[in-house]
Amino acid sequence: MGRLFTAKVYRVPRGRWVIFPELCKGCGLCIETCPEDVLHWSKDLGAYGTPTVEVNGAGCIACRTCADHCPDCAIDVDRATARAGIRTQGTDRAPRG
Ligand code: SF4
Ligand code: SF4
Repeated sequence: MGRLFTAKVYRVPRGRWVIFPELCKGCGLCIETCPEDVLHWSKDLGAYGTPTVEVNGAGCIACRTCADHCPDCAIDVDRATARAGIRTQGTDRAPRG
């Protein structure tokens, strides 16, 4: 049985942006690749005791660039839920692989 990781979910104009702090290693790739420059370091600590990231939700265009570049699958961006309704707490996921 796979382990579940707790998600922090942010509402963004086109859906939701999700970080799994326990998977984040603080490499900063997501911050460097975001075309809107809306990611920054969080006060939360990740897998190695380094800061995780959070989003300035108002500026996020839900392009998924950050999720696609994260080497640890610590980010998910869900555009579909903008139409289906957004749940803001209690989302868990199992690790990929
Ligand atoms: S989905 Fe796009 S705009 Fe939003 S934080 Fe990620 S890279 Fe930036
Ligand atoms: S790319 Fe992934 S592991 Fe690296 S800082 Fe961003 S969320 Fe954390």
